[in-house]
Amino acid sequence: MVIYLDNAATSPLSPEVLEAFNDANLNIFGNASSLHSLGRKSRKLLSEARKTIAAKINAEPSEIFFLSGATEANNTVFKIVDYDLIITSPSEHPCVLEPAKASAKPVIWLELDKEGFIDLAELEKHLKDNADKKILVAIMHGNNEIGTIQDIKAIGDLCQKHSAVLHSDCVQTFCKKDIDVKACNIDFMSVSAHKIHGPKGIGFLYKNSKIDKNKLKTFPLILGGGQEKNFRSGTENVNSIIALAKAVETFSGMEKVRELQEKLIKDLLKIEGAVLNGPKDLSKRVTGNVNISFTNSKMDSEQLVLQLDLNGICVSSGSACSASKPLNLSSEDNTMESFVESSYVLRACRLDDKVTSKAIRISISRFNKLDEIEKTAEILRTLA
Ligand code: PLP
Repeated sequence: MVIYLDNAATSPLSPEVLEAFNDANLNIFGNASSLHSLGRKSRKLLSEARKTIAAKINAEPSEIFFLSGATEANNTVFKIVDYDLIITSPSEHPCVLEPAKASAKPVIWLELDKEGFIDLAELEKHLKDNADKKILVAIMHGNNEIGTIQDIKAIGDLCQKHSAVLHSDCVQTFCKKDIDVKACNIDFMSVSAHKIHGPKGIGFLYKNSKIDKNKLKTFPLILGGGQEKNFRSGTENVNSIIALAKAVETFSGMEKVRELQEKLIKDLLKIEGAVLNGPKDLSKRVTGNVNISFTNSKMDSEQLVLQLDLNGICVSSGSACSASKPLNLSSEDNTMESFVESSYVLRACRLDDKVTSKAIRISISRFNKLDEIEKTAEILRTLA
């Protein structure tokens, strides 16, 4: 039996979602734009799904736009916001880093502390110093590698105070933490279904309907039949959207995941040379995330991941979709330098090579059991 501990990369469909998804695939195949009864049924369920999701983040249903996932959502923000300066952090997911670099606009990279937190005073200084510019701030809520949860409310307050647009990639925290887009002054928010036991290829972008129209440019993004309020044309993926809404409704078990996370951290830190990366305070860390370096080990991250795999345990080195992704912190030079194997997120936290090259990320879900956690710790004791 495989022990799956890579839930930050993607998570298995939950039984509830699978049932809803299968049912939708069998029965809800009408085009949501069709006039007939099957079309109307799809349209009704689409509208219900939008309401469920909007309620989860205190948004209006009309502010939720379905699309193929967070990569599309993040890219979309960089295409539709009118900005002449980006403020972001070097620990963002590549689908934020790459559009920021490709924009050919100046980028200010915020410094990170050793646990991956940005400095709010530094953010405010840049916002003040660039008061004459249209600024897009892109700061993720929870980091996918080291689990750092930024104070998004404080960031949102600063953005509002200085009239900057705030985009937040909330892929790793959606459903795990309460997010109130209005209270946090978030203008755009990206979410992906497959991190919360929903299907791959579906997600949503929240867009604040009150955002000043002068801060937006190309709109609509994709022309065609005018679906998604003419924002993103294309026949709606109703079955996956139903499954996404079901994943939101049924997401649970975070107390148990937190217990398993605590136990694993405790057990692994007993290994000589083990160092926990990311926040030590678990209330500021994505539930289920354990990123740990075995500095005394002869093996680097990838060797450890492969050895664990030989023992039937799936974890990752860095993030699954960004392992060995480049990062060039210069805002003038937009070329990408090739990265060696170690995690760019850990290097952005300015941790030393021993730590960055020997880190693995273990991410727990509600489907993991205590004996799986114990077995993983036991095997790592012999390997690391
Ligand atoms: N942002 C973060 C923080 C992620 O962890 C991921 C997952 O890979 C993505 C964006 C991309 O999401 P998607 O797979 O829906 O494109």
